[in-house]
Amino acid sequence: MPGKRAAGVHLKSKAEIEAMGRSGAIIAALFAELQPRVAPGVTTTALNRFADTFVRSHRGAVPAFKGLYGFPGSACISINEEVVHGIPSRRSLKEGDIVSIDVGVKQGGWCADSAFTFPVGEIGAEAAHIMNVTRKALRAAVAAARPGHHVGDIGAAVVETVRGTGLAIIRDLVGHGVGRAIHEEPQVSNIGRRGFGMPLREGMVLAIEPMLAMGTERIATLEDRWTVITADRSLSAHFEHTVAVTADGPRVLTGGGIWDEPEWSMEPTALPQDVRMR
Ligand code: MG
Ligand code: MG
Repeated sequence: MPGKRAAGVHLKSKAEIEAMGRSGAIIAALFAELQPRVAPGVTTTALNRFADTFVRSHRGAVPAFKGLYGFPGSACISINEEVVHGIPSRRSLKEGDIVSIDVGVKQGGWCADSAFTFPVGEIGAEAAHIMNVTRKALRAAVAAARPGHHVGDIGAAVVETVRGTGLAIIRDLVGHGVGRAIHEEPQVSNIGRRGFGMPLREGMVLAIEPMLAMGTERIATLEDRWTVITADRSLSAHFEHTVAVTADGPRVLTGGGIWDEPEWSMEPTALPQDVRMR
């Protein structure tokens, strides 16, 4: 049965949101499994292989990024200055790195999309700072995803969270609608103004994904034509949830597991007590 549409956006039924939540739960469970495996000496291809096997161990589930626009991996794995779309390789993680792992899952025809930046061993204060601010920006942006608000409210929440932290918002990459396809309308910018942009309606499902940089907001693409880096090679972090806009407010479809761990500080300015420091 065709779905209702609002300005080209497919509004999902409760049952469809439940189905997307099942795909989202696979990613949350995967991230919990990956956390202890993200360690010095581990190659990104080993993490990719684990992710692929884990996703496919769930009935009918497939990694949605594999082959998407020709992407060769099952997960995008981006280290330090790499922002997004890192291709799994034989490169191994080093103590103090931060690594963003971005995974899409499609099961029963419905997608979810989520990303998490992991510390590798003990990390420095700058790395902890950017991870915590980016995560806090995601939480604020998710809270803005409710009926009656606008897409601009989501970007405004990111802007307000990041202001005064010394970090830059990467504006050339955006979040998006999610549904039967991993990328649907609308675009969800991380820069916005409250009350501007497409009105948010019950049944919209959005991938909200702030990406921050320690230095410039400008980005570049490596010769592999996939890996996006910060133009000044400063550190970058990326956290992403798939979120349903419901009458009861935002419903995170990719939460739980690693996202609930209390030792992760959400404080943007104070240096975290809980992330292990060098
Ligand atoms: Mg993603
Ligand atoms: Mg996404």
